[in-house]
Amino acid sequence: MKLLHRLVFVMPIFLLLQCNPATNTPPSGTHSSLYATLYQQHAGEYRALCYQAFNLAGFTLDAAISTPHEKPLAIIVDIDETVLDNSPYQAQAILEGFGYPVRWAEWMNAAAAKPVPGAFDFLKRAAADGVEVFYITNRKEEFRDATLRNLNQLGFPHADNDHLLMRTMGNEKESRRELVTAKFHIVCLIGDNLGDFSGLFENQDAASRMQAVDSSLALFGNRWIVLPNVVYGSWVDALPGFRPGLSDDSLSLLLKSGLKGFR
Ligand SMILES: [Mg+2]
Repeated sequence: MKLLHRLVFVMPIFLLLQCNPATNTPPSGTHSSLYATLYQQHAGEYRALCYQAFNLAGFTLDAAISTPHEKPLAIIVDIDETVLDNSPYQAQAILEGFGYPVRWAEWMNAAAAKPVPGAFDFLKRAAADGVEVFYITNRKEEFRDATLRNLNQLGFPHADNDHLLMRTMGNEKESRRELVTAKFHIVCLIGDNLGDFSGLFENQDAASRMQAVDSSLALFGNRWIVLPNVVYGSWVDALPGFRPGLSDDSLSLLLKSGLKGFR
């Protein structure tokens, strides 16, 4: 939740209706994550993609359960935009013209996030099948209690201190995954950011991330299950080269320079 939110313009959602119907061009001054947030909150396609992801995870779960393993089975999930939907925070940021991390703590402590479509049913089913669920998130330690409260209010399985691995020194998740893989056979990893799956993708530029995805093609939809997140993530942080101190104008120019036209 960071770089994209720096591009802040106050713009009511009704302006979406002012798009040119012939070109579908957004009105000038549109917030950079307006369409992405609306997609998450209103597009049937977004919901279908989430169901698709958890249906695929179900196939992987079926296969794992029917195969003997030396270690007990576990599933590793990310939290934000994987099992919990933070789009109300994103929407409020657009409506009131603020950006992350402004009011992020308020949103966290409200523990009011709803489940990402399909996440709850899948994880309940996995737990009922005897598979443990580990939540590896880059939320800060200070939000541990609120995170557990949110997950428990919704009834998510294994929402306790033993199964929740918060951000430690940095954002990388490999060291936390290793703690789980030492004791469990991992059925699948589920996340909205490539860093949720492997250290292969950490701190890579956009082109290198693409190459790493190509080299891992067979894992996607199988052992690695990807949720859609168009609003924020390493994908957009990588575009200007992980340079969080840029001015909005400089960032906007850099992002535009990444567009691939037809001539
Ligand atoms: Mg996430």
